[in-house]
Amino acid sequence: MDETEHTSQADDSGDSGEETDGPHVTDDGVDDPPPDPSNRAVEANGSDADKAPTSDHDAGVVDGQASVADQGVDATQQSKAGVGTDGSPTAAEGPTADEAATPDPDVDADTDVNVGSGGRDRSSPDVDLDGVVLDDDDSQGLFDDLLSGEPIFENKEVLRPSYTPHELPHRNDQINRMATILVSALRGETPSNILIYGKTGTGKTASAKFVSQELESTSQKYDVPCEVEYINCEVTDTQYRVLAQLANTFIEKNQQVIADRLDDHRALRSDAADDSDALAATEFATLDELDARIEQLEADAAEMEEVPMTGWPTDRVYSTFFEAVDYHERVVVIMLDEIDKLVEKSGDDTLYNLSRMNSELTRSRISIMGISNDLKFTDFLDPRVKSSLGEEEIVFPPYDANQLRDILQHRADIAFKHEALTDDVIPLCAAFAAQEHGDARRALDLLRTAGELAERSQAEIVAEKHVRQAQDKIELDRVVEVVRTLPTQSKIVLFAVILLEKNGVHNINTGEVFNIYKRLCEEIDADVLTQRRVTDLISELDMLGIVNAVVVSKGRYGRTKEMGLSVPVEETEAVLLSDSRLGDIENAQPFVQARFDN
Ligand code: ADP
Ligand code: MG
Repeated sequence: MDETEHTSQADDSGDSGEETDGPHVTDDGVDDPPPDPSNRAVEANGSDADKAPTSDHDAGVVDGQASVADQGVDATQQSKAGVGTDGSPTAAEGPTADEAATPDPDVDADTDVNVGSGGRDRSSPDVDLDGVVLDDDDSQGLFDDLLSGEPIFENKEVLRPSYTPHELPHRNDQINRMATILVSALRGETPSNILIYGKTGTGKTASAKFVSQELESTSQKYDVPCEVEYINCEVTDTQYRVLAQLANTFIEKNQQVIADRLDDHRALRSDAADDSDALAATEFATLDELDARIEQLEADAAEMEEVPMTGWPTDRVYSTFFEAVDYHERVVVIMLDEIDKLVEKSGDDTLYNLSRMNSELTRSRISIMGISNDLKFTDFLDPRVKSSLGEEEIVFPPYDANQLRDILQHRADIAFKHEALTDDVIPLCAAFAAQEHGDARRALDLLRTAGELAERSQAEIVAEKHVRQAQDKIELDRVVEVVRTLPTQSKIVLFAVILLEKNGVHNINTGEVFNIYKRLCEEIDADVLTQRRVTDLISELDMLGIVNAVVVSKGRYGRTKEMGLSVPVEETEAVLLSDSRLGDIENAQPFVQARFDN
């Protein structure tokens, strides 16, 4: 079994000459599965098959981008994260050999701990597994290799966006300001409306949810009717849907309130039937009054009709919501997250209607908390809406590299096994994300992806190289997503650029792109746009970072754009060809080739 451990490490470093300390290190892993020669053969295949596409990918991208990223991060680390020379990316970059091969005693100690605890942790599943593997002749050992890797993660979920952290370092000021404004709700008063601004990943949603949980639990503690409704306007993006969701939520809550009251009243009713004193300390003077109330509640419950997902006129949805929220006394805080998406998609009617409700509500009050990624979105609002919504404004500034480190450290402590990260992993993730406008989401994604890549390559510890691979992978994923969602015409233009590039054309100009583009359109029966429009589409591709275009002067022939592809050719082409409309284009390649031959 020592050899099993050992083999996978040697695999990793690709160097079998330095494996002499391997067996010593793994001495205490005695309960690991015994090596089975046939399994090992399959394991090797399995892991090759698993790694091949990834490393191909990575290699391609690393070539194109790593050097730029390196320099950038160097600078950031020194200026922002303050990483000393020991943490500097260049220092650790040279050797590709793993820590398995290093003679450093510290690392030996680490490896010791990992192997030991890993073995113990998994001791009981291992017993079962051994039985299965040895008894079942059909098993090819597909999962053995994967299972034999030391688990790096303790709880990966903690690094996912869906996880709500209990602590939000560096957001105390913003959280306290929200609390100071919203505390009126607990006093039965209407809090000012709040607008929260900040770029993506600055902790707006996490902070708002934290505050709303606190608010609701405090309101329960003191038995004050205060409720928070959270709506993500990226999902719920029309006035109809927002109002319908609000209406239905309050109808459901009202039904619950009615059901509880009916239970109480019916119990009282049956007590009172036996004992006429039962009504003495209640609001009901007579049984008839009580009966009338019960009937009224039953009628209310029957009357409340849920809003269907579509089909009603908007004012009916609005009045249904209005009545539902005003059914009894309460203060309601409506959180509209990604509010800019709602306004962008369906204008500011929803906000207009919501913001003037208080003047007509009789029992309840509402307060709106809008959260926006777009700092300028209020420019598009009706001035009345703008001033009402922006009574209080709270800004979430981007995190700097040091703050991101704290955030990552808090999460990493719960997410990873003890000592699963080298010291430079968190600073590097923080530095990369600080370049991305201080985006904590990006920082967490990087850390999680780095862990996953380490896990996949059977490394025992997440190291700097995994962070760099993760950065490349995330960047490539972004490109793939952008290309995948381009409109068809832009895809054809991009395909023309790719064809030219693949045929060795440098400094591709607009005319060349247009010629190929026209032929491609004919080939797949698409409309042919004018050269002017195609030039616009090229500018858009430029802005998206897919091509890199510069305007060059051609003297008396005027000016033209020259461009090259700024994304990996193979991957981009594959994404384009996966579009069913463009799938046939592949057959058009020979004709392009023929054109060049002429
Ligand atoms: P936004 O809504 O501003 O785009 P989020 O609140 O969704 O950003 O935060 C993005 C990710 O970063 C989430 O996973 C969140 O838990 C995490 N995060 C952001 N700020 C902090 C912080 N101060 N402490 C811990 N985690 C944070
Ligand atoms: Mg958010």
